[in-house]
Amino acid sequence: MPQTSTTQTSTPQTSTQTIDGKAVAAQVKAAVAEGVAELRRTTSRVPTLATVLVGDDPASAVYVGSKRRTVRELGMLDAHRHLPATATQEEVAAVLDELAADPAVSGILLQLPLPAHLDEGALIDRIPASKDVDGLTAESAGRLARGETGLRPCTPSGVIELLRSAEVPLVGANAVVVGRSTLVGRPMAALLLLEHATVTIAHSRTRDLAAVTRGADVLVVAAGVPGLIGAEHVSPGATVIDVGIHRTPSGLVGDVRTEEVLGIASRVTPVPGGVGPMTIAMLMQNTLEAARWAGTTL
Ligand code: NAP
Repeated sequence: MPQTSTTQTSTPQTSTQTIDGKAVAAQVKAAVAEGVAELRRTTSRVPTLATVLVGDDPASAVYVGSKRRTVRELGMLDAHRHLPATATQEEVAAVLDELAADPAVSGILLQLPLPAHLDEGALIDRIPASKDVDGLTAESAGRLARGETGLRPCTPSGVIELLRSAEVPLVGANAVVVGRSTLVGRPMAALLLLEHATVTIAHSRTRDLAAVTRGADVLVVAAGVPGLIGAEHVSPGATVIDVGIHRTPSGLVGDVRTEEVLGIASRVTPVPGGVGPMTIAMLMQNTLEAARWAGTTL
């Protein structure tokens, strides 16, 4: 069932549907809660997410708090570790190794960013692929690039879920991803490729961004630049997914000037309430998936 509402504009060439990320995220979480109950009934295994927070960054503490709360709401177990900002590389590594070896732990999430003195990549890579619920280890990235089984990064897999819920055709579609970060852009492009889209990646060195994005049937914007994408970047009937999120004095905004593309795009995601709620929902789905794999190597 598509989760959309229709926005009629004053001079509509196209009526633009708004994809409701909150509703899709609620559906994903409800399905996870059912899956958790089923796993508990049939195997007595309880999916357990270990969150690791290093330091006292207030934003990170809020994100971790919300992940832990959602874990408990869906009937899973929350195993949290908090290390001081002064923790050494070896101390953080030892905690990750202990969680990796613990059969009761289904998934491990190392909250980023880490304090500057720590080697983020080396620590992420201590998480075994079977427990890598953020999908950020080199092994998970390699599995995604090769189209092999593995846990996928949460934000881009949330975008795929939104596209599915809105029944956006992807096979053979021209998909343009703006942004090539490890967290969003690159895995987004790889996931779209697995859906058989024809994928182009644009970035800060792209010449004539608008010419590239106007070729998109599906445009996913993850540039981290408020209002980068407007009417001149979007072809009639395109689906526009806005991953960007920025706090401004007038509230949260995305990378897309949404009001400009209404009446041009066939579908858009709002900010807030679009991609944002999907990230945590997909983290929950990954934790359940990891629990189903418990005791196996990928
Ligand atoms: P990032 O690491 O800063 O990467 C941004 C990418 O956009 C880079 O590849 C950069 O190109 C490209 N870029 C920057 N300016 C550009 C321009 N003018 N034209 C074309 N490309 C441009 O950011 P990120 O982590 O991928 O995040 C992107 C946005 O998504 C941010 O607003 C972030 O807050 C948001 N986000 C939201 C969620 C969520 O749950 N909703 C999750 C993660 C991120 P270069 O590589 O050439 O520098």
